[in-house]
Amino acid sequence: MITRFAPSPTGRLHRGHAFSALTAFTAARTAGGRFLLRIEDIDQTRCRPAHEADLLADLAWLGLEWEQPVRRQSEHMVDYEAALDQLISRGLVYRCFRTRKDLAQAAQSAPHGPAEPFVGGPIHPHEEDRWLAEGKAFAWRLSLAAAHEALGGFHRLTFQEQGQGPAGERGRFVARPELTGDVVLARKDVGVAYHLAVVVDDALQGITHVIRGQDLFEACHVQRLLQALLDLPTPTYRHHRLILDAAGERLAKRKGGETLTDLRTSGMTGAQLRADLGFGW
Ligand code: GLU
Repeated sequence: MITRFAPSPTGRLHRGHAFSALTAFTAARTAGGRFLLRIEDIDQTRCRPAHEADLLADLAWLGLEWEQPVRRQSEHMVDYEAALDQLISRGLVYRCFRTRKDLAQAAQSAPHGPAEPFVGGPIHPHEEDRWLAEGKAFAWRLSLAAAHEALGGFHRLTFQEQGQGPAGERGRFVARPELTGDVVLARKDVGVAYHLAVVVDDALQGITHVIRGQDLFEACHVQRLLQALLDLPTPTYRHHRLILDAAGERLAKRKGGETLTDLRTSGMTGAQLRADLGFGW
């Protein structure tokens, strides 16, 4: 078993991250497998070196050990760009020139549509040439229509869920990429997007088990599709429950709240937090 914890240094970690990291670490240890840490910092508009330093200290305090060197996504952009180039050359992605404002308007007029608003597919080549000549910014979107054709349908996109999705999903699943629509795979300001970097890295690092929170279950639909398109292996998935706050709500970095750095600097020990979260080692 090779598993990983893959935090994004966009804020400080909270108890939910500790639970996730401990779940993956303990699974690897129990199986005599390997545990890797991966820093998912491709979005340089939101990631901060200070958050990375804090999270490394938090995880060490928690008693975790991981292999060196740690893979930091921002140092491997060429790997993700190569994957994107492959999709571009095979006509599996298209340029989308719509702005956030255009998309918000589209979403408003179709409130019950897919999570990603309908973006209308590729634009006419003449118009595309004109906008490119004008230097208009664009994002690369995955074309579900082209992907569907390339794979002869989505029925072979199976994966194994050993944990549980948010609606109790477990066992063998067929991914349904149509639920998320034509997702953005690269943006002008951020370069390559999360889904593409994750599938490339999981394959490159030989990850056999993706152990992460249920909030990421839906990401399997498009990630499984990208694995098929890029001919990458599919790991086994193990989504775990989420840790809730006192009000019964999901913890989130953006909400503020108590961080692992707060707990660590308040004098609590990592062993105490492990015990609190149900890890008795
Ligand atoms: N970097 C992602 C996050 O912090 C996790 C990615 C994953 O585990 O697949 O939410």
